[in-house]
Order: sequence, then structure tokens, then C-alpha cells
Amino acid sequence: NFVSAVVPPGEIGVKFDDIGALEDVKTALNELVILPMRRPELFTRGNLLRPCKGILLFGPPGTGKTLLAKALATEAGANFISITGSSLTSKIWALDGSAIVVELRDIWFGDAEKLTKALFSFASKLAPVIIFVDEVDSLLGARGGSFEHEATRRMRNEFMAAWDGLRSRDSQRILILGATNRPFDLDDAVIRRLPRRIYVDLPDAENRMKILKIILDRENLEPGFQLRNLANATEGYSGSDLKNLCIAAAYRPVQELLQEEKKESNIDVAPVLRPLNFDDFIQAK
Ligand code: ATP
Repeated sequence: NFVSAVVPPGEIGVKFDDIGALEDVKTALNELVILPMRRPELFTRGNLLRPCKGILLFGPPGTGKTLLAKALATEAGANFISITGSSLTSKIWALDGSAIVVELRDIWFGDAEKLTKALFSFASKLAPVIIFVDEVDSLLGARGGSFEHEATRRMRNEFMAAWDGLRSRDSQRILILGATNRPFDLDDAVIRRLPRRIYVDLPDAENRMKILKIILDRENLEPGFQLRNLANATEGYSGSDLKNLCIAAAYRPVQELLQEEKKESNIDVAPVLRPLNFDDFIQAK
């Protein structure tokens, strides 16, 4: 009874089109997940096309792994359960778009087996479903030797046993999707269960341009603003860095306007925000 509702696909609100660049990753996910979930009948004949039970997304922080996971659920027409390894919380997206958060920490001690069983039996009721394990290295990382907490070890063993226990009928409709910035911290046993591994790379200038185009789609930009210049000036930025940069730039005109209002006390005039300008932001990183 640890959850009562889950969000069906359309409610998550992110689609592949909301993600800039990462074309190869989207193509791979289409073949591995979207097609088999949407057209299972095409994958039942013979032995060659078997649904994939586990996929690992790995790559630097902020490159869009979480965003991809959510969009994948939308595109595959699947429900979505998200578990975060480091904070030990589990989030189930509810029908109204809110999320139910289960603090695994609180039920961790002694109840690891029960919780994991509940998660998997719940998932099979929800199928097709994607179970997204963010920071999978924290939840299912390498064995921590004698320092590892007993409960952590039990949780991991139970998780893997339940995972192995997915019947083949279910495995077509339940996908475990792990994400990590630290693939080398993963236990061999986990790596083996995530046979498809997809690298989610930092964007190059061309791809930064695609991401910026999406992020700045509805912003008021200075006349003559060149997306390409900003893309060229942001070498090394992840999608998340680009988003934060744009938020900072969008906030600047608000700050300036508030300063002006303080000085002038002429509050009859309707406030006009100046367009976004990136000059102050693109040197330092
Ligand atoms: P972490 O490894 O730190 O958990 P992550 O790889 O899961 O990061 P996200 O959490 O998906 O990255 O990205 C953070 C935010 O950055 C997203 O919510 C989105 O706003 C923005 N972002 C990242 N990549 C892209 C992209 N390719 N297109 C559009 N926005 C992006």
C-alpha cells in the first residue's frame, strides 16, 4: 500500500521535442523501448528481437538524463516511477501531476524486502511502466565492504532478485532505466543487468545551439541576438548549465527594473523589462 496513484504518460509533460540535441540517444531509445512498448506484437516472433530489461544512461551531470527518462515514458506510452538513489526517495507521479514521494529512508530499516517487493508488484500492475533509478550508483553501487550498511546491502540484493524475477511477459512491459554520472562505481552484477548502456555526452557547439533554441524559444531577446555566438561562447556547458545561464540572464532585467523603481518612485509607469542580454554571463565558468 505504499502508493495509490501514478501518472500516465501524457501527464509527465515532457516529450522528445522538448530535449535539444541527443539525436543518437533518442534513436537508440526509440528502437530499444518505444517500439517494443508501443508495438509488442512485432517483438514476439523468434529469439532475436527480445525486449531489453535494463538500460543504463551514463554521462556527465546535467546532460539531460532525467529529462530523457521522463520524455521516454511519454513517448513510449508508459507509466513512470522514479527512485533516487542518493536521497533514498521514490517518486510516483500522480494523476493530477503532483508527485507522491516515499521516503525510502523511513521504511528502510528492516523493511527493505517488503518495500522492494511492493515496488515490483505495483509496477507489474502498472505496466507498461518505466522504473527510473536516478543515481543508480548510490542505490545499487559497488559493494561497500564491511562499512556498508546491512540495510543497504539487503535492499540491493532484494532489488536485484525482484528484477531477475520479472516474468518474461512482464519484462516486455517493465523497463528498469538507470542513470549515473559514475558508471565505474557500479557493481558488476548491476552492470550485467543493464545490458544496454547509452552515453549521454556534453553538447558540442552545434548541439548547444539546438538546446539554447529550445530554452530561449519564448524569451524576449535583444535585436540582433545571435544564438550561434552564445553557443560558441559556452564550451563545456551542459544542458543544465545552459538552462541556469539563461535563467540568470532572464533575471537580470527584473533586478534592474526593481533598482530603477526604487530610485524613481514613479510607479505609475507600467514596468517594461529590457530584452535578455548575455554579455555579462558568458566569460566566467
Ligand atoms: P544529473 O546527472 O546531475 O542528475 P541529468 O543528466 O539527469 O543530471 P537533467 O536533470 O535531465 O540532467 O537536466 C537538468 C535540466 O537541464 C533539465 O531539467 C533541463 O531544463 C536542462 N537540460 C539538460 N539537457 C537538456 C537538453 N538536451 N535540452 C533541453 N534542456 C536540457
